[in-house]
Order: sequence, then C-alpha cells, then structure tokens
Amino acid sequence: MDFKFTEEQERFRQEVRGFLEEELRQGLWQPSCDAWIMKYSPEFTKRVAAKGWIGLTWPKEYGGQGRSYIDRVILTEEMLRYGAPAACHWFADRQIGGSILAYGTEEQRKELLPKILKGEAYVGLGMSEPEAGSDLASLRTKAAEGGDGYVIDGQKMWTSGGRFMNYIYLVARTDPEAPKHRGISEFIVETSLPGITVTPTIDITGSEAWADVFFDSVRVPRSCLIGEKNRGFYQILNQLDYERSGMERLMGNYPLFDAIIKFTKETKRNGKSLSQDTLIRHKLAQLQIEFEVGRLHMYRVALVMDEGRAPNWEAAMAKAYSTAFEQHLASVAMEILGLYGQLLAESKFAPLLGMAPHSYLGSKGYSLQAGTSEILRNIVALRKLELPQS
Ligand SMILES: Cc1cc2nc3c(=O)[nH]c(=O)nc-3n(C[C@H](O)[C@H](O)[C@H](O)COP(=O)(O)OP(=O)(O)OC[C@H]3O[C@@H](n4cnc5c(N)ncnc54)[C@H](O)[C@@H]3O)c2cc1C
Repeated sequence: MDFKFTEEQERFRQEVRGFLEEELRQGLWQPSCDAWIMKYSPEFTKRVAAKGWIGLTWPKEYGGQGRSYIDRVILTEEMLRYGAPAACHWFADRQIGGSILAYGTEEQRKELLPKILKGEAYVGLGMSEPEAGSDLASLRTKAAEGGDGYVIDGQKMWTSGGRFMNYIYLVARTDPEAPKHRGISEFIVETSLPGITVTPTIDITGSEAWADVFFDSVRVPRSCLIGEKNRGFYQILNQLDYERSGMERLMGNYPLFDAIIKFTKETKRNGKSLSQDTLIRHKLAQLQIEFEVGRLHMYRVALVMDEGRAPNWEAAMAKAYSTAFEQHLASVAMEILGLYGQLLAESKFAPLLGMAPHSYLGSKGYSLQAGTSEILRNIVALRKLELPQS
C-alpha cells in the first residue's frame, strides 16, 4: 500500500492552490463554509472552466481532460480547503455530465457537455418530492408522452441549484401502470420553459440554495429524456453513488476547522492560551483523527472509480462517516467559542465570521441530503455485510 501522490499529482495540487491563493489575493471572494453548495459565482465558475477543471475526468473527445478521479479529488479537496464558491458547476461536473456521458445520446452529449464545460449550464438536482425522499420510487411527478415530447406535471422539493440554476435534472413517472421502480425516467430541462415555477427554500441557515420547483403542463421535447424510458430508477442509483462520494461530504466546513484551530492558538482565557487547555486539545486532536480517516474513505472511493467500478457501499460508508465528522466539528467549535459562538455572521461580535453557528445549523441536513445516514447504513448492511434484505 502506497499512500504517496505522484509528482504530477503534487504539482497539480500546487497549481490549484496557486490559482485559489491568487483569487484570494485579488479579493475576488471570501472563503466560506458550504461554498460548494451554497455560494453561486458564475464568474468563478467561468475562471475554473477556463483552466479546464470542469469535466476533469471526462473523455477528451467530449472536451474533458481524461484525468483520474484521484486528480479530481485533489482538485475538489483544494477548492473545499479554501471554501471556494463553486456551486454553479459542482452538480453538473460531479454527476450530471457523467450521466449524460453514460446514458445520453450523441446529440445530447454535443449539446449539453460543452455548456457544462464552459461553465454556462448550472444544473439543479430535482429528485425529492413532498411524498418521496428515501423512498424515491414513490415519486408522483409525471411526464406523459404525447406529440413530439412529454408534458410534465408535479412538484420537486429541496432542489439544489435554487433560483440560480438554468437547467434542472429531474426524475418523473412515465408509466403509471408499471411497478413503481420500473416506470420512472430521467430528464434534463431548461428552467426557463413556460409552466416552471421556482420558489427558493429558505433553509435553517437562511440560505436560498434550494428550491421548490413546480411543473404545470410543461411541454418538453423528446430530446430532454436521458437514457432509456422507464429505466430511470436504475440509472439514478448509479448517479447517487457519485453524488455521495465526494470530498464535499467531509470538507464542507473545512474553513471552520482551520479557523477554530487558529483561534485556540491565538486566544487566551483567564490568562492562559486555549491551546493549553487539555480538554480543548483532546477535542481538536479527536477531530483530526476523524478527519484523516474520512480523507482515506474519500480517496478509496476515488480509487474504486478509477478502477471503473461504481462506488456503492464504499460511497455510502464514506458519506455516513464524514457527515458525522462534520456535525462533530460544528459541535466542538460551538463549545470552544462559548456564548459568543452563537452569533451569526450579521453580528459584528460574531467570532470567526459566524461560521460556527452556520455549520452547526447547516450540518443537521448533511445526514439527510443525498441519502440519510440510516439509508446509507442499510446499503452497507446489504452490500458489504451481505445481510438479507430487511
Ligand atoms: C439540506 C438538504 C438538501 C437537499 N438537497 C436535495 C437535492 O438537491 N435534490 C433532491 O432531490 N433532494 C434533496 N434533498 C432531499 C433529501 O434527499 C431527502 O430529505 C432525503 O432523501 C430524506 O427524505 P425525506 O426528507 O422525505 O425523509 P424520509 O424519507 O421520510 O425519512 C424520514 C426518516 O425515516 C428514516 N427512514 C426512511 N426510510 C428508512 C428505511 N428504509 N430504513 C431506515 N430508516 C428509514 C430516514 O432516515 C429519516 O430519518 C435535500 C435535503 C436536505 C435536508
């Protein structure tokens, strides 16, 4: 077992760091927690696109770089370390582009992939509905075939992309008579179409990064269907492995981790540095242990992908572990900061720019989004431990 990166990989990491340091030096954005999912900057996304860092793993014939998933983890790890505002391209880069490559037609690849690569298509993720979350196959949004396309009616909720997305990836029922897993299809649709209403969801942190999306007799051409009609559920399962498996599940709050360590070194309480308090030292050391284990989980997932396998239980295990780390980090930060630590970013007295309460509140959702921790444990029990279906 060799944990070393190659020289080329180390050079790539330094190149990404250099780019992000320069962005910060120019004051183009502020590092923040959850920036990969909550901070939308079309300008930043265009600059990342110009570097060729969207679609890093996609084949060169479709404009990608044909590089490894380990390279992609290095890239995303650095983006997260710096809290860079990457939400415009994150979802399409992570999973929708891959889905189009795997299941899309040649026309769809030629039409959509260049837009993603140029940082122009911001794709929201429309799977969950009011009555369909963990049991996604219960979804009711329907796409009725007729004429030269489909008519979509229904509602999605918690759609990442919020009011910023210009495309929505959605799953809808195309055969109401079939058993529930067998009558679902995948679509990708422009959000500007008549009949689509996007209502931002203001979450517990005050962010508008999600939305309720309503479809009222929305006519879409047949070319919006991704892959095989009625096989959508099986296509999604594969895509979810990619959604769950990234470094963002471990490092969404890295700016807080970094900041709380600095804070304990720089802050004195009752004349003594916080960094000399045994309890605080142990709490931070424990977090570091968990962080390192989480990082290994994520690199293992990337290795599995580089071997051409779908990271199924590996992704489930990595996400369940890592989101627990993020929640633990937020709790420790709140404890160390004390009462002032509850102040949000709007307050001039908020320590660490209010990152701790943001993470404390925001991280509650981490073990729900992209599959709850209970569902992930079900996957590990079934696929890794080979326990019988419950
Ligand atoms: C911050 C946030 C962002 C999100 N982003 C998106 C997004 O971009 N796109 C999207 O489509 N959706 C998104 N979601 C929705 C998310 O995928 C669902 O919340 C999640 O799948 C759970 O579904 P539910 O909320 O309906 O809860 P339910 O499925 O009703 O579950 C309720 C509880 O029961 C447990 N449970 C359910 N079934 C089982 C079972 N079989 N075994 C054991 N326990 C079970 C669950 O773990 C949970 O604790 C987001 C959610 C949040 C909170």
